[in-house]
Amino acid sequence: MADLNWIMEQEAKIPRGGVRTRFAPSPTGYMHVGNLRTALYTWLIARHAGGTFILRIEDTDQNRQVEGAVDVIYKTLAECGLDHDEGPDVGGPVAPYIQTERRGFYQKYAEWLVERGHAYYCFCDRADSVEGGAFSETPPTDPCRALTPEEADARRAAGEPYVIRQRIPREGTTTFHDEVFGNITVENATLDDQVLLKQDGLPTYNFANVVDDHMMGITHVVRGSEYLSSAPKYNLLYEGFGWPIPRYVHCPAVMRDQHNKMSKRHVDPSYEDLIAQGYLTDAVVNYVVLLGWSPRREIAEQEIFSREELISAFDLGGISKSPAIFDMEKLRHFNSAYIRAMPPERFAAVAEPYIRQAVKNPAYDAGALAALLQQRTEVLTEIPEKLDFFDALPDYDAALFVHKKSRTDLPGSLETLRALAPRFAALPGWDADALSQTMCDYASECGCKNAKIMWPVRIALSGKAVTPGGAVEIAHILGQEESLSRIARGIEKLEGAQ
Ligand code: GLU
Repeated sequence: MADLNWIMEQEAKIPRGGVRTRFAPSPTGYMHVGNLRTALYTWLIARHAGGTFILRIEDTDQNRQVEGAVDVIYKTLAECGLDHDEGPDVGGPVAPYIQTERRGFYQKYAEWLVERGHAYYCFCDRADSVEGGAFSETPPTDPCRALTPEEADARRAAGEPYVIRQRIPREGTTTFHDEVFGNITVENATLDDQVLLKQDGLPTYNFANVVDDHMMGITHVVRGSEYLSSAPKYNLLYEGFGWPIPRYVHCPAVMRDQHNKMSKRHVDPSYEDLIAQGYLTDAVVNYVVLLGWSPRREIAEQEIFSREELISAFDLGGISKSPAIFDMEKLRHFNSAYIRAMPPERFAAVAEPYIRQAVKNPAYDAGALAALLQQRTEVLTEIPEKLDFFDALPDYDAALFVHKKSRTDLPGSLETLRALAPRFAALPGWDADALSQTMCDYASECGCKNAKIMWPVRIALSGKAVTPGGAVEIAHILGQEESLSRIARGIEKLEGAQ
């Protein structure tokens, strides 16, 4: 017999009153984009309402356990600023927050559901009775459905292995309401008597989520739309227990293109991959929020949101039903906007490891290099190749000195470098103003545009047609001695090319 006192005690513990949402990842070892978006929406719903955000680890599928996977979840949430109020590491009123530590609860609730007539013991040797087994789509009527309680008890007492299955009504329909997808009705005959408790005593996801969401007082169940088709069975479970049904918020799929969902198997990037590819957490978060949610009314056109703005703007009504396509170009656009808007010291700190991949010479100041890059970088991983000429001048072709727009040619470039070399050598200080002044003075003496003078200097200093920063900035960072030596090499190259 179910221990009704124990059940009443659990009921009494359930926090009530405010909004309570949970992010319930399975520890797979990485955070895919769809999961991150679910976490964001779940957190935003709680924060918008001044409610509670809970982290629950769904680790009942022992086949999928990965070393260190829970740490990936903590790390990602912390990096993204998604702080949780309750969870395995911080505790809370309805602990534990790890499903395998809640094992005993599911057994008790499953047995109670059997007594209430909405589940039954099944002793059949069916594929889905063991972990990882497939669900049969149209189940045969299970012979164990008809066992009397006494028969089932006798077989359990004899030590026969069993699972507990949900007893789905054979007739009628089940309707549930989703905040995004509206009312959905299905024929009960299409629903299978799914396994709730496996032979190993652990629950299936489909059972555990209902028990836990109830025991934890969850008011809004936010998850991917792949769970929509199971929602009628969850409703029947809530009804079977006599529990109130939470609000469902199923989020549309995140797609790689028109036809395919994003998936790790198809090497679509996870959150960690995007960070490794040089994207900033804040840009990823901002972009991912907009995959499937749009701001409305006076902020309908706004793209860049601070965390506080998101908290106040986020509403369930803005979540779309249609799948969202993850567009890498769009993410780049967000990333460069975030990079440009960063305080320079912050950008310098973030960029430094990338700068030092290319520029090992400690004489070249990382802060000055960062200042060159900030307005010209879309993703951090582009940085090293932009700076590859600092440590050593690359071998370059004299043809680079010829540039139509700047009106430069080989003889003119030679003349410019020859004229500037002694002026640069004579400069008492090597500051940007003096460098700029020297070149502008020379340009006005020649009666030409500054570009005609700056172009050959920049080529001689960098050996590249495209560089972050112009002649003044590059010369300034390289210092007087190195700049003069590079200009001398430019002169030699041009002399050889005449
Ligand atoms: N553990 C499930 C997953 O990672 C969570 C689904 C839910 O949020 O209910 O997909």
